[in-house]
Amino acid sequence: MASEKLLSLVVPVYFEEEVLPAAYPRMKAAMEQTGYAYEIIFVNDGSKDGTMGILRRIAKADPAVKVLSFSRNFGHQLAVTAGMDEAKGDALIIIDADLQDPPELIPQMVKMWEQGADIVYGKRQKREGETFLKKFTAACYYRLLSSMSAYPIPLDTGDFRLIGRNVADVFLTMREHDRFLRGMSAWMGFESVPLEYVRHERAAGKTKYTLKKMLKLAVDGITGFSTKPLSFPLFLGGAVCILSLLGFIAVLICSLTASAAPWLWGLCGVFLIQGITLLLMGIQGTYLGRMFEEAKGRPLYVIAERIHANEATNLQK
Ligand code: UDP
Ligand code: MG
Repeated sequence: MASEKLLSLVVPVYFEEEVLPAAYPRMKAAMEQTGYAYEIIFVNDGSKDGTMGILRRIAKADPAVKVLSFSRNFGHQLAVTAGMDEAKGDALIIIDADLQDPPELIPQMVKMWEQGADIVYGKRQKREGETFLKKFTAACYYRLLSSMSAYPIPLDTGDFRLIGRNVADVFLTMREHDRFLRGMSAWMGFESVPLEYVRHERAAGKTKYTLKKMLKLAVDGITGFSTKPLSFPLFLGGAVCILSLLGFIAVLICSLTASAAPWLWGLCGVFLIQGITLLLMGIQGTYLGRMFEEAKGRPLYVIAERIHANEATNLQK
């Protein structure tokens, strides 16, 4: 199907010399199969191995390939962001370089986009070749995250997804530093459709997500999308205050009917002071949460469709 439309494939790469020679032809074949014009944007996230040499060779032979190379390692989420900033496509597909996300699914994602989906996200039905610990911690984390977040973040999804230009344009306005793309995508809303797939083993090389990087992403996910931890002391403090007041009443009743040990009064007093301290922390946390929301500078709202309305801007900040 010939079309004027352009697709952009965004691939973050970090120390992937072992996998790139196999990954590029499969990605290219998948893009060809869509029938659309396309560009493949590789973002080298500060690799110090032969990655850049391979990318230079690929780009020299293929005008559809663009390469951005970071001055140092900025991390996967920022590499994807740079690729999205560069992409000119009507739809963008984000895929890992290591072939864990099969490029062969791209034509199917594009079909779902043609049928009206704004976001088609890969949903991991099964994860092959990953340790029990990684699968278990990932499953627990996604569930914790979705219970804390105010927006439903789909379970068991990564960054393998297709997003329409309308969605990409909103991403461009969101310049928060600690980024958690799948959460940002959930925050935006839009028509999101899952595409279930089996996540294969890495084609070659080892994971580039060290424990430290994984923990940072996990913390970014929760802190970027939930201010509940900040206001939590408010509830705890309230509960402790109520309990200590009940304690005072119980001790008072005891001292009227029998003799209550004097230290019980002290104990209730200590609880009350702790409760008040927690309450004050919760109040401060609530204000901090509000400042944090403002500091992120996200758009106030996202418009999906306009009818007889001003087309000049899609977003109002
Ligand atoms: N990656 C990156 N910067 C990093 C870490 C990873 O650009 O600091 C890339 C990596 O090359 C791969 C993708 O992000 O294309 C996912 O990384 P990886 O496969 O190592 O993570 P895992 O699948 O094990 O979670
Ligand atoms: Mg991987």
